[in-house]
Amino acid sequence: MRPMPRPIEALIHQPALAHNIARARELAPDAQVFAVVKANAYGHGIERVFDALRSADGFALLDLDEAQRIRDLGWRGPILLLEGCFETRDLELCSRLKLWHAVHQEQQIDWLAMHKTHEPHRVFLKLNSGMNRLGFTPSAFRGAWTRLNALPQVDEISLMTHFSDADGPRGIAHQTAVFKEATADLPGARTLSNSAAILRHAQDPAVRADWVRSGIMTYGSAPDYPEHGIAHWNLKPTMTLRSKVLAVQHLKEGDSVGYGSSFVAQRTMRIGTVACGYADGYPRHAGHGTPVLVGGARTSTIGRVSMDMLAVDLTDLPAEGIGSEVTLWGKGPKDAVLSIDEVAQAAGTIGYELMCAIAKRVPVHVETLA
Ligand SMILES: *Cc1c(COP(=O)(O)O)cnc(C)c1O
Repeated sequence: MRPMPRPIEALIHQPALAHNIARARELAPDAQVFAVVKANAYGHGIERVFDALRSADGFALLDLDEAQRIRDLGWRGPILLLEGCFETRDLELCSRLKLWHAVHQEQQIDWLAMHKTHEPHRVFLKLNSGMNRLGFTPSAFRGAWTRLNALPQVDEISLMTHFSDADGPRGIAHQTAVFKEATADLPGARTLSNSAAILRHAQDPAVRADWVRSGIMTYGSAPDYPEHGIAHWNLKPTMTLRSKVLAVQHLKEGDSVGYGSSFVAQRTMRIGTVACGYADGYPRHAGHGTPVLVGGARTSTIGRVSMDMLAVDLTDLPAEGIGSEVTLWGKGPKDAVLSIDEVAQAAGTIGYELMCAIAKRVPVHVETLA
């Protein structure tokens, strides 16, 4: 007999993934959609999301081994390496797997120039339009384009940039202006928008492009939370982290809870100890009072998160106790939803980080497409 696991588990919701990628298409109807699946599909697992995201026109990611895995799943369509090659031998795999790849610096052009291939590559020339992370400066951009255009190893050059502030008040105008000027009269497909631009700037003609790159929205997190939540954008949670109450404690005024006694009861309370801790990927920095669902009802955490356990307030939930289902984020019983963004905010981080950090020891199950 297999030993019983701890009650914690993660669920990946394929119907929600399919819904969210359809939202990207709906918001950018003239564009083709890359489903961004870097970081193992934002922690969801490439193999677990693949079927739900097949309606995308292509996949975008960073790691060559992830590209290989998508080819192994039978995908013959576009795959874009968002950061291009990291070393010269990566080009072999680009040729073999027919990968499209970003070109963001001169050395990558040098490698291409020395690369022997029968099939010329499609490359995405990246402009640094102001984020100052990757890409050619506006003054170097045309020179890079001309160099690439002269290479027999290259058959198509697309044009790409990335926004730093599509989710916030600064917006994208400063970068779209730079992109427009640097790429004026250059031929080739364009790709600009990440999730925040797809959601917030859909009406802006300056982002109208051939491809959009749907990342975090695909995974049911709002890039501009708390200004907007997933309900506002009509996105659905794609990952649930859930567990159970292992024990119940009764506190009287003055009793403390957990390491450091950081929480002290001001009144009589009933609390539950939950099988979920920071070694499962739940953020230790989620302070006292982080929202959580027990039996589908909203309550909050109490005291510090420990490695394997945390405490929740059951005072106002008398029907809940040992064995009650606890939703740390995602979909709870009775159609209750706790957005990962709310938990992330309470931990001083963003949904991206939490979904990428689910620990290996957490068993993952998949809710498949109907
Ligand atoms: C990660 C990434 C995206 C997706 O960003 P989201 O904010 O998750 O939508 C798009 N483009 C590039 C270049 C990226 O690295």
